[in-house]
Amino acid sequence: MPRDILKDLPILGGKNEIIAARFSGTLWDLQTPLEKSGDLEWVKLDSADGTEILRHSTSHVMAQAVKSLFPEAKITIGPAIKDGFYYDFDLDHRFSPEDFPKIEEKMKEIVARDLPIVRSVVPKDEVIRYFQDRGEKYKAELISELTDSTISLYQQGDFVDLCRGPHLNSTGKISAFKLTSLAGAYWRGDERNQMLQRIYGTAFPTRDALEKYLHLLEEAKRRDHRKLGRELDLFSISDEAGAGLVIYHPKGARLRMLLEDFEKKEHLKRGYQIVIGPQILKLDLWKRSGHYDNYRDKMYFTEVEGQGYGIKPMNCLAHMLIYKSKLRSYRDLPLRYFELGTVHRHEKSGELHGLLRVRGFTQDDAHILCTPDQLNSEIKGILEFVRDVMKIFDFPYDLEISTRPETGSIGSDEDWKRATHALRQAMEESHLLFEINEGEGAFYGPKIDVKLKDALGREWQCATIQVDFAMPDRFDLTYIGADGEKHRPVMVHRVILGAMERFIGVLTEHFAGAFPTWLAPVQVILLTVTDPQIPYGEKVFQQLLQAGIRVEKDFRNEKLGLKIREAELQKIPYMMVLGDREVKQNFVSPRARSGKTLKPMTLEEFIGLIREECKIGGESYS
Ligand SMILES: [Zn+2]
Ligand SMILES: [Zn+2]
Repeated sequence: MPRDILKDLPILGGKNEIIAARFSGTLWDLQTPLEKSGDLEWVKLDSADGTEILRHSTSHVMAQAVKSLFPEAKITIGPAIKDGFYYDFDLDHRFSPEDFPKIEEKMKEIVARDLPIVRSVVPKDEVIRYFQDRGEKYKAELISELTDSTISLYQQGDFVDLCRGPHLNSTGKISAFKLTSLAGAYWRGDERNQMLQRIYGTAFPTRDALEKYLHLLEEAKRRDHRKLGRELDLFSISDEAGAGLVIYHPKGARLRMLLEDFEKKEHLKRGYQIVIGPQILKLDLWKRSGHYDNYRDKMYFTEVEGQGYGIKPMNCLAHMLIYKSKLRSYRDLPLRYFELGTVHRHEKSGELHGLLRVRGFTQDDAHILCTPDQLNSEIKGILEFVRDVMKIFDFPYDLEISTRPETGSIGSDEDWKRATHALRQAMEESHLLFEINEGEGAFYGPKIDVKLKDALGREWQCATIQVDFAMPDRFDLTYIGADGEKHRPVMVHRVILGAMERFIGVLTEHFAGAFPTWLAPVQVILLTVTDPQIPYGEKVFQQLLQAGIRVEKDFRNEKLGLKIREAELQKIPYMMVLGDREVKQNFVSPRARSGKTLKPMTLEEFIGLIREECKIGGESYS
């Protein structure tokens, strides 16, 4: 086993940091025997692999702590995930964050005892019996479904878990961890099953790294778009209306309208044509497109006069019908149809999350129909579009190509290869770096995914570009080529911001609710000191409104201090206090969101200032 090799190795320093190995590409713990020869690489605690193992082992320690505090708890699964780990338990006691210190204390004890984590391989029947005898029905169920005749177990102290590993070799290797949150989770992710309690936590190789992460978590909490959405009165999602269905309040609707106006302008500029399709389309059409066979689980259906209809989960179909509405020549291509298309998808209730994962949303969706020769330049054009837009929002981003899914896709291998090659070639020729995401493509074609990075360094998937040879085939789309013959166009599906809901959620967190002037639902708020300023205030209010400035007023008979504090919480770019001096001299004294007071100016000057701030790259956006 690697442990024996490591013992004899003359590595100078840092030997203690080696906690596992990679054996011919597979993660391997130091105690698992190497049964054949292969390449051995060492894994250190502070590497990505090492941290994942650390987190997985910490999840076991958490399960051990929970079992010792709540012996009746039934254990299920507890993997490492991005940024941490979780473990799901079945027990009557409802966990609350007040339980965390107690569990963490117990975990610390287990760590301090430096228990060896011992792997053993045991016949399957014996393991099933072991867990059954202890009432661990979930573990017994999992094992009974495994096809292997022997099962690997990991034990530390009196805690035994079914696990593939790898793990640290002792609990003492864990130093910095924290339990972070709670959630409900169905056993095996299936809502027909028992609801379990999930405890999330995280672990890092050092205290410092943990502290840094916890700080980021705090900041993320402060910026949570659900919290800000309420405080800024942007939107609500209510059980009364239905889960995952967004209701935009006036300010949220304003923000969305601003983004939509921006989108329309940018698309028209790039030769797109705006189209609008219906919300429901006949079932036969969804069968023909492959959605019914490959996407049915996420669709809603309805019936009109005995005829089945599907509520659209995507906007493609109507766009193809527009294309088919007349004879097309190669001279007409490319055609770029753009729609702010509202779609509905059945996301599982456990996966819904504020604006980020919803059931009804509007995409900035476009379908480009072009000749195979035009495909390369069309993809490059979209990549430039993405670049320009991300620059306006100041988002850095990464690119990925997702290839054919292993199951549930349409089209020939040959077409998938051609489509994937087209995406790759366009990226390479544009000198863009990208990663490959095997098997993550759409059911009709491969795609480029754009992952933007927000102010906290978190990644969000927004834009995608998908190449599709299958759909034009299924709908028999044709154009007359230069040779006078019929040819098949290629279809590109693409979104730039993605779902408006999601993008607004991301923007809200990115700016912590302090939207730049061009996007702010309210750009300036007027506050009177006392009632005599109200007539002047009304005049200023009307003039700003007429100038197209998004203005609000607070002329209540309240203390000025209170009005200022309330306005500050709204994160409005400018605040203007109207006192006797302003009225007498007919000017305004704007105060910026940063707290800086600007020099007194005329209202015209202020309007000019706002207009200037709404200009980006010479273009006026609101
Ligand atoms: Zn495990
Ligand atoms: Zn589409």
